[in-house]
Order: sequence, then structure tokens, then C-alpha cells
Amino acid sequence: MERAEESRLMNQSPDKVILLAPLTGPVVPLADVPDPVFAGGMFGDGIAIDPLDGRLLAPCDGVVTHLARTGHAVTLQTREGAEILLHIGIDTVELGGEGFTTKVAQGDHVRAGDLLIEFDQDAVGMKAPSLVSVIAIANSEAFDVIERGSGRVTAGVSPLLSLRAKGGTAAEESAGTSPSEVRVQASRTIKLVQAGGLHARPAARAREAVRGLQARVDVHHEGRQANVESVVGLLGLGAGEGATVELIGTGRDAAQAVDAVARELLREVHGELEETPARMKSPAPGAATRPSGIPLDPNTLAGVCAAPGIAVGKLVRWDDADLTPPELASGTSAAESRLLDRALATVDAELNTTVRDASQRGAVGEAGIFAVHRVLLEDPTLVDAARDLISLGKSAGFAWREAIRAQIAVLANVEDLLLAERAADLRDIEKRVLRALGHTNSAARVLPEEAVLTAAEFTPSDLSSLDRSRVSALVMAAGGATSHAAIIARQLGIPALVAVGDALHAIPDGTQVVVDASAGRLEYAPTELDVERARLERDRLAGVREANRRTSQQAAATRDGRAIEVAANIATIDDARTAVENGADSVGLLRTELLFIHRESAPNADEHRQSYQAIVEALGGRTAIIRTLDVGADKEVPYLTLPPETNPALGLRGIRLAQVRPDLLDDQLRGLIAVQPAGSVRILLPMVTDAGELVRVRKRIDDLARGLGRTDPIEVGVMIEVPSAALLADQLARHADFLSIGTNDLTQYTLAMDRCQADLAAQADGLHPGVLRLIDQTTKGAAKHGKWVGVCGALAGDPVAVPLLVGLGVTELSVDPVAVPGIKARVRNLDYQLCRQRASDLLALDSAQAVRAASREIWPLD
Ligand code: PEP
Ligand code: MG
Repeated sequence: MERAEESRLMNQSPDKVILLAPLTGPVVPLADVPDPVFAGGMFGDGIAIDPLDGRLLAPCDGVVTHLARTGHAVTLQTREGAEILLHIGIDTVELGGEGFTTKVAQGDHVRAGDLLIEFDQDAVGMKAPSLVSVIAIANSEAFDVIERGSGRVTAGVSPLLSLRAKGGTAAEESAGTSPSEVRVQASRTIKLVQAGGLHARPAARAREAVRGLQARVDVHHEGRQANVESVVGLLGLGAGEGATVELIGTGRDAAQAVDAVARELLREVHGELEETPARMKSPAPGAATRPSGIPLDPNTLAGVCAAPGIAVGKLVRWDDADLTPPELASGTSAAESRLLDRALATVDAELNTTVRDASQRGAVGEAGIFAVHRVLLEDPTLVDAARDLISLGKSAGFAWREAIRAQIAVLANVEDLLLAERAADLRDIEKRVLRALGHTNSAARVLPEEAVLTAAEFTPSDLSSLDRSRVSALVMAAGGATSHAAIIARQLGIPALVAVGDALHAIPDGTQVVVDASAGRLEYAPTELDVERARLERDRLAGVREANRRTSQQAAATRDGRAIEVAANIATIDDARTAVENGADSVGLLRTELLFIHRESAPNADEHRQSYQAIVEALGGRTAIIRTLDVGADKEVPYLTLPPETNPALGLRGIRLAQVRPDLLDDQLRGLIAVQPAGSVRILLPMVTDAGELVRVRKRIDDLARGLGRTDPIEVGVMIEVPSAALLADQLARHADFLSIGTNDLTQYTLAMDRCQADLAAQADGLHPGVLRLIDQTTKGAAKHGKWVGVCGALAGDPVAVPLLVGLGVTELSVDPVAVPGIKARVRNLDYQLCRQRASDLLALDSAQAVRAASREIWPLD
């Protein structure tokens, strides 16, 4: 390069960014790069060099914002906000890292001339189409290239490009300046009316919603602000249920991004939140009083039930002492940063497996918890804070712990209790990452038999690593019934008590305790008599369960001989096995949504067939009623990209969706028709509102069956979950082989009470006389055509409802697999004629409570 040109390029001015050549070799204009993607400027304006040696140096001071895992490319951000992409060779990503050695880590601060990547010129040159390497300004919309070098340049010495920020604005924006200081393009104020407010899962969904959009969205609440990229930042806003927040978007897609975030923050997803925070209901620490104010017996602590049951055992303190990594790094910052990256990747892979396993088991709640932990692992607020500390010479473990602790401190100041409870999730990922970094303070714990584990608060990963066969109960000093550990305890069936208070810590390790989680109490050092009584009750309940199990493989009939089929509701092959073990006569409802949900695209006909065939085989000759896709409302399938709806429960769902996406239904029907042996499968159609819908789908099934060479008839039933379907049951029964009542939705639509609304849970009762009359009308309509009626909603598994359903003429009850033995036992204790008479009397009552009370009176429970 000519001296005169060099001095022109080096001519500094405050708004100018000078980039030195990162490689030695001849300059190649961007348009001559042998790759149309770069040549066409799709990665931004820039220049290229044909390298003569294998050392890529930093062209300027900056932060490494991205380092390709394969080591062939790196992006630096300058102080002014310019993003500089350095890409070695063409198509070198294909080499999978071979021939490249990175010398920095993501997050490192580098100086101009620092070595970034070394590469083996010969090896890379042999395998890649070209070694020509590109230097591109990734945010060219914010910077103009005003001068370019030419000729032969020397790495770290020759100036190569000079940039200038466009009008200053975009550079400030990309340098992270608050959007309120730059041009605001879209804003919207919303009130968080849904349960829980801005908690972890809507925050994670909002972050996903803006992915790919060119916009930055910040959420403002009471003088605080957080970017939607950071779930932790959003939680720290403390915007609970009822809070008003302002969304401010900047950038090309600002309006679209703000709308997408608003939609996610306002959306209620079934099962995300189950109860109100337990701490609101908990006693003050150590105050041994019942909620009613009556003092408790001595040696007793009160808490809140998180999972019901009764247990006797020895107290074992689970509280892991804090893991304390050394403060100072033993290696360079780059090496520590790499250690952190590796630990984060390890934990991410573990969590991914956990999410997949939980989804396959159908444990949607558990899968959701760990999916949020994955999002937290890459949260910029945490990762950037940790990297900053690493760059100050701290060890990876110390930096990570401090970054987490800082956010826990923020949450501690949040008034919303539900949001504050999310600190447990942060503690969980703190421990996991520290363990992945090799920090440990306890050998694998060996638990005694019947261990009652206590801790200030369990984290979900504590529960996934312990020997569950030895744990009889879990007790937490803090925590809430909404804590994720509590949700998992319920799923595991381990009695759990939360919010017991700090007095718990005063009970010595090894003390005998009685935990009556259902009654919300823990008794320590109990008398022999108390222990005896607790064991008797626990054993009595276990004995009833065992006796029911012994007869569960036999068919159930009422005392006067009315046969009632007790079937199982399942979603996975594991459920099918549990159903068989528990004596289910058949499968009354296979929800196929799971097959659609955890995938990138819809299954094809053969994938459908394989899934159903495997389940039919696991059922060993029992029939399966398989429901066609019922997504929409509370059941989401992201890749279907359905249009947003203001009122999804009344929108495109069930069979209506199949009418706009017939391809989805056709593939599923083809898969169902192909299952062997013929007759093992019955098809059930969800959300039908009238006979026209049924007739159309039935014809389609017949056409497809004919096309596939199947001649024997296929039974087709309809779900009765919309009031119109119940009212028109006689018309539906003319064309259907059977009817199956979905009381969950039938109750929701009859009473106009959202089934996902926790506050309405007690009122949205399927024993409401309005719902019972629709059930009555359904069985009468079906009887006109000699068709049978089942119930597959939750009411079928409610022992108080069973005598009424039987009395109204239902002949099949489809319930959770583990509930089958208990429901069969209940049926065997009934007299059908009495059920019939009394059921018709109870239709005249005026409330669900009255019906419940009367049922308990006539048919007492065990
Ligand atoms: C119902 O609505 O009662 C039912 C069984 O269907 P789902 O719960 O899957 O909506
Ligand atoms: Mg339903």
C-alpha cells in the first residue's frame, strides 16, 4: 500500500472507526469474493484478503461477541458499536473446526493486533474452495465504509477500512443506548391480567417471539427497564399479576415485535401456574399455629401442603452447603471463559435430555420447568455479567456464582411473591453449572430408608438426582406450592410440605418425624402412640390402594350387574403400559397432541401409524379410542403458525382446525387406518358442534380407507364437549358409533368459565346441574339409536361423580391410568337401580355444591 494512502486512512477523527488488516496478503474487493452471499453484501459491506499466512489478528479494540464453534469466524464489536465479522475462507464451516485453533473466547476484550485465530493454511486450503477471507460490517445499516485499502496489506499494521457511523443514531442504538434516547418506533401499554404476571415462562416465550425480527423491545415498569432478550431482567422488574407495563420497540420491525411480545405476555397457557404463592398463606417462621389460629400440639410445625400424603421417617438435612469456587482464575481470562462455555454447554445438553424425557413421559409441567432453565442458561444478563467478572481475573465458577447472586438479590426486592419464588430456579442453575465446572462438596448421598428430606428449598435438580425409592416425604422451610420442586413432588407422588419456617432448621438430623402433608403439619420427636397412629393411617390408605389393585384386572360391574368399562386416558406408550398394569379395560382417550407438539414439523402418515401401532401392541389386545388432533386454545403447536386469535378457546380448534388444514387430518387418518389388527382402533373427533361436521369427516375416513384397500368398517365417535353437541346428541348418534363426553370442555363452555382460570377452579364444577342435564340429554339422545356413551373428562375419575354418571346411563369411564383400580372398586360398590333413581332426583338441585353434598350423603366414600 502507498504511504500517502496509509496516512489518509489513518487520519483519525472522533466519529471514525479504523480497522487494521487482520491478515497479511493482497486485498480482494468484496464483489470479487468467490461466494455470491458475501459478494452480494448479504453479510454487510466490507472487503476481503487472500491470506499469505495463518494468523487472524484483531483489526481494532473490541469485545468478542460471537465466536463460531468451528473456529472459522469471529465477530467483534467496537466501542462505537460497529460489528465486524471476520470470516476465514469460503465454506469453511463445513470443516467442523479442523485446522482452526481459537485463541480467544466469546466475551473477551481484545486489543488491535491481538491474535484471534490460528489456522493451518495448507490443510484448510486443500479442503475449502478458497482461502479468501472476508471482513464485513455486520451492521452496515449503522455504519458507512468511507475508505478502503488496496494492494498488499500486513496484518496488524496496514489500515484496511475506515468507517463512519450513519448520523450517530444507529451506532448508539447498537452500542446499547436506551431506546428512549433514540427514535421510538412503536410502543404499547398493557396490563398483565393473566395469572402470575410476567413470570418465567411468558418471559421466555416473549423472547422467542421476537427472534428473527429486526427490533429491540424493552419492557418498562415503575421506572425499571429490561430487554426482552433477558428473562432474568424481565423477572427482576417484579411485574406481577395486574401490573401495567410499557413495551417500547425500536428498529425496522418494531411494531410487529411489540405486538408479538404483548401477545405472549398476555397469553394464558394452561398448566403454567397452578396455585397462588404459598408464602402468602404460610405462618410466620416458627409460629406453630394452625391457619385457624388454634395453637398446635407441642413439637409440631405448620406448613402448606404442596403434595398430599402421610409419611413417617427420619429427618435428613438435604441442604447442600454452598459450593464455593476459588475467587481468582488459575489460567487466562480466555481459558476461564472457555471453561464457562463448556460448562454451560454440558448443562444445556443435560437439560435438553431431561426436557425430552419428561415430554415423552407426558410430564408437560416438568418439561416446561427445565425448558425455562435452558433459556436462563443463555440469558445475556447472567452470561455478560459472568464474562465481565472473568475479564477482571475471576474464576469461571466465582463469576457465574456472583452473576446469579446479583440477580437473586434483585428478585429478593421484588414484591410479587410468585416472581420472587423464581430465585429457586436461579439457585438451581447456579448449582448445576458449578457442578459442571467440577466444584463439589458432597460425595453421593446415601439415604436411610424412609428419609424425610428437609431443606430451605429444594431445587428441581435436587429432586432429579436423589434416590426416590428411599424418600418418604419432602419438607421445605421456605418455598411455595407453586415452586417447581413442589410441582415435581406432586408428579412423583411424594408427600411434600412447604413454608414451614426457619424453625425447621432447629430440628436435629436423624430425628423421627411424622409428616401429614395433607393436613399441613410436621410433628418431630413424636410419641410412640403418634407414630403408631400415623403408620396405621398411612398403611390403611396403602392397604385400600393395594386391595383395589388386586382386583383391578377384573371387569367391573355394579352389584346388580350393570357392566361399566373402566378405561384409561393416555398420551404416550409409557402411559399405555401403566394403564395395562393398573387393569384398564381399554383406552378411552388417546390424546395425540403430544405427537405433534415436540417436533419441528407435522408427522407424516407413516410416523402416525408407527406411534399408534406401538401403543396398540403395548395394550395387548385392548382397544384404543384415538382422538384426532385437538390443538388450539390451551394446546399449542408452534410450527403450525396458526393466526393469532383474541379468544382462542372459541377459535380454530379441534375438528375446525382440520377443516382449514385438511392435510394434517388426512395424514393422521391414513396412519390410523393402517394400524393392525383391524378393529383395534376407534377414531374419536374432538370439538364437534353438529352432525354436518361429523358426516363430512366420516366420508373422508371412508374414502381414505377405500383408497388404502380397507374394507371392514371403522368405528367413529364424537366428543361431546360443546353444549350444541349435547343438545343435538340424537342427531350425532345417528351417524356416530359412540359418544364420549369431554366434561372438561363441556363444563367450560356450559358455565362460561375458563378451565385454565385458577380462581374459578372451585366453581367450574362438572357436577353443576346445568352440565348434568346436558349429560342426561346426551345419553338419552344416544339411546334412541342404540349407541353407547362414555365420559373421558376429569369428572369420570371423581369418586363423588361416578354414581351419578352411572345413574345417567354412562357405560364407560375413562380415567388417569393410576386411578383405574379405585374407580373400578367404586363401581363395584354401587347399585345401578339406586343410581338411576337418585341421579334423576339430583338433576333438580340448584348448585354443584348441593349435588356434591347429596352424592356424598347417598354414596359415602371409603
Ligand atoms: C375434555 O374436554 O373433557 C377432554 C377430555 O378433552 P381435553 O381435556 O383434552 O380438552
Ligand atoms: Mg376437550
